[in-house]
Parts: sequence; C-alpha cells; structure tokens
Amino acid sequence: MTSLLINGVLRQAAGGRTYQNINPATEASIGEAPDCSRADADIAIASAREAFDNSTWSRDHEFRAHCLRQFRDGLYAEQEELRNILVQEAGVPVALTHSIWLDTMLDAVSYWADLATNYPYEVQISARDTLAGVTSARTVLREPIGVVAAITPWNYSLPSNVFKLSAALAAGCTIVLKPSPDTPWSGTELGRIIVERTDIPAGVVNVVTGADPLLGEVLVQDPRVDLIHFTGSTGVGKRIMASAADNVTRVCLELGGKSANVILDDADLPSLAAQIAGVCAHAGQGCALTTRLLLPRSRYDEGVAVAKAAFEALRCGDPTDPDVIVGPVMNARQRERILRLIDKGKQEARLVVGGGRPDYMPVGYYVEPTLFCDVDPDAVIAQEEIFGPVLAVIPYENDDDAVRIANNSVFGLSAAVHSSDTHRAVGVARRLRTGTVGINGAVWLAVDTPFGGYKQSGLGRDLGAEGFAEFLEAKSIALPG
Ligand code: NAD
Repeated sequence: MTSLLINGVLRQAAGGRTYQNINPATEASIGEAPDCSRADADIAIASAREAFDNSTWSRDHEFRAHCLRQFRDGLYAEQEELRNILVQEAGVPVALTHSIWLDTMLDAVSYWADLATNYPYEVQISARDTLAGVTSARTVLREPIGVVAAITPWNYSLPSNVFKLSAALAAGCTIVLKPSPDTPWSGTELGRIIVERTDIPAGVVNVVTGADPLLGEVLVQDPRVDLIHFTGSTGVGKRIMASAADNVTRVCLELGGKSANVILDDADLPSLAAQIAGVCAHAGQGCALTTRLLLPRSRYDEGVAVAKAAFEALRCGDPTDPDVIVGPVMNARQRERILRLIDKGKQEARLVVGGGRPDYMPVGYYVEPTLFCDVDPDAVIAQEEIFGPVLAVIPYENDDDAVRIANNSVFGLSAAVHSSDTHRAVGVARRLRTGTVGINGAVWLAVDTPFGGYKQSGLGRDLGAEGFAEFLEAKSIALPG
C-alpha cells in the first residue's frame, strides 16, 4: 500500500479508502492506492497555500537548489524501484525504461536545481524617460507564481511528474500533484522519496491520488490554486480551461497530437524501417509519436513495402521481456476505444497489417501493431488521436501537398521530416504548424528545449526556459531615476 503526501506526512485517504492498481499486462492488481476524497484534496491545497504564503521557501533559492539535488539523488537511489513501478503499473516495456521513460531523464532534475539559483530572477532596466515623461529606473522581478496544481496522464507518468515537480520547486512554487488514476504509484513513490530523502519542508509538495478522474476538478476549481499545469488529452484540457476561467487561474496545457512523418521523395526509405516501427513503442501511447506517415506518390509502393515489413516484424509482448517494445495499452477502456477506431479504419482505408487483438497474448490489454494504407487525409483515422499502435499511411503529390496534409489537423504537437537534403527538410519544417520537428531522426526531447503544441495540442510550453517561465510571474518595480 502506498501513501498520500499531505502537509509533510505520508498518510492514507480519509476513512482509509483505497482502490486497486491494475497491471495492464496481467489484468491483475499489484496493490492498492489511496482513494482521496474532496476533503483530502482540500487539505492538500490548504497545505500548499500555507507553505507558499507563510514560509521562506519561495524566497530561499539556495535551499531550493539543495533540496532539488537531494531529490535527484533520491531518484537515483530508488531507480530500480521506479523502473519496477513503470513496468508493473503502466506496462512500459523495460527496454524503454533505459531511455526517456527513466534512465535518461533522472539527471534532468539537475537542470532545474541549477535554475533555482542561476535564472535571471531580477532584471534591471536603467533609468530613462517612461511613457509618463518621468525618468525612472525599473526592476523586473520574476517571482514564483504560487500554488501549482499538477495533473498528469498515465502514458508518460513518471517523467511528467518529475518534470512538473522539479520546475515548480525550482521556481519557488508549492505544488499539489495529482497523477492519473491508472498510475498512482508514479506519484506516491515520489512523495515517499521527498519525505525520506530530502529536506523539502512540509506542505511544499503534496501528492493526492484517487480512482475518480474528477478529483482533478477539485484542484482546477479552487481559487487558492494559481497555476494549473496539465498534461493529458485535448478534451480534458478544454474542460479544464473552461473551469479555470471562473477564477482566471493560469493554465499550461500539454495536450494530444496526430503528428506527421513527412518522407520527402529523395529520402533513404529502407533506412527508415526502425523509425517507422517506433510509432508502436509503448503500444503507441505517446503524445508526440508520428502516427501519420506521408509518402510521396512517386515512391509510394516502396514506402508501403518498408512500413509493411517493419510492422510485420513487430510483436506484442510482456513488458518485462527486454526484447519487447510493444507492451499492453493502459486499460480495457482504452483497448476498446482503439479497436473501435481500427474498425472505422477498416471501412475507410486498406488494412495491411494487424487490425485486432493478438491471439498469442490472451491476457493483458494488448492490441496488434496495425498498419493502414491509402488513408484519406480527412479520414477519421487520419484525424483522431488513436493512442494505440496504429499508423495511417497517406500518399501526397509534391512538397506543397505534403505540407498541406501535415497541417490538416486540429493538433500541432510534433512532426518529423526525412530527406537526403537537410536544407530542403528544414524548409519543409519551417512551414509545419507544430511545436517540434525532428529532421532525419534528430531528437528534440531535452530538458533545455521547449516542448509543446500549436493549435489544440496545447497552450504554453514544458521544459526549457520557456517552460520554466510558466511557473513565474513578472513584477515591475519603478524607482526614482
Ligand atoms: P486524460 O486527459 O484522460 O487525463 C489526464 C489527467 O487529467 C488524469 O490525471 C486525469 O485523472 C485528469 N482528469 C480527467 N478529467 C479531469 C477533469 N475534468 N478535471 C481535471 N482533471 C481531470 O489523459 P490520459 O488518457 O491520462 O493521457 C493520454 C493523453 O495525454 C493523450 O491525449 C496524450 O496525447 C496526452 N499527452 C500529452 C502530452 C504532451 O506533453 N503534450 C504528454 C503525454 C500525454
């Protein structure tokens, strides 16, 4: 049984209520998580408010850097426990935990520990005439925004939690973290590490979990919260934005995607097989995966053959097996939704590989890697975020057509461009309405690089200086010049 963290104490939900944490690979419970009530969330918010308003946390930069380094060291010390949780609770293939799901993201905390002291929190603007004709010097203070409600999804659970916690703490905020109901231990474990391995004061970090996703609404609607930092689906993001309007609470929204992988007609197609198959990593449950493959008509058959071979080589498997990259999807509801969209795809396009549940994995929430070709750019499977191991292949006529199809989406999270001419690929990248673009396999995911979406993929940025600024307010002080 894991614990909530509220006001510096690891404790259970009021009344001792719990719910089962289900392993998606076995459909069996791995243990319990606290099932918070509205009253528990209320105390967590009150604690975060109190710690922000009535302690030195928000002003003591050196102490925050010290605490963040302790947090980073604690994560390293508990790395194998965290790996186990990711695999058991979220079905993340263990092979992927050796990359961005765990091993390569732990040192990210160092970036924020440095920002706690090295960021330009005070900027002087020298004395000169203001608009009122009065000569004045000005100081711009970047102050912590206050109490952060961090609400996270299951697919990239642990990194999302670590990123939000670290950035908020570095900025001097206090925080209430609410992980997804499907991945509660990715949050509670961090609470335990904070209590047992850091000097972070009581109330600065609070972790609440619950079976009802609407627990998040309690945080969103509370006027004591200054920033809602949300990662999740576009539908929930819209609802949060509407609720936040009542208190004019600031929101940062990292939402869904339907990203395009644009293969230009001079690309080295056979070398792209692994990259194309990568869309099925973690069963396709990645917001920025390039789930639309745009192939030039002149090389369409060749491209389909490469994609077909790549998909036929993929097999679902037990996430504890180090050779597996396609594990289960999160839960039965997700699997049914994905299968419904696959059925829609069978009416709209040509099914080339997969198309159902793998008969070789009778237990667990598995979906076969599924490839559709000849997909119309306006088809449902080309427009909706499926969030499963499904790729839609779309032919295009020329570069302008490719750009038009890539941008034909309500989303704008990410994209990839492949060409033997990097200059030409960058030209296409500049025309894409997305927050990130990877060229010829290059990777944009890094702590110092802003990540986020255009259009309905979000509002604001995560990571990088832009992401850090989401946790700050600007205050301008004028002094006689
Ligand atoms: P989700 O939107 O269903 O849930 C996300 C979180 O919001 C969960 O903690 C959930 O309990 C909570 N929630 C649900 N309803 C709420 C409400 N009314 N008020 C407040 N909180 C509420 O998303 P999910 O299914 O957990 O995750 C998958 C989605 O997340 C996909 O759409 C994916 O693209 C997106 N995602 C985006 C990014 C990004 O950085 N852009 C990263 C990872 C995942």
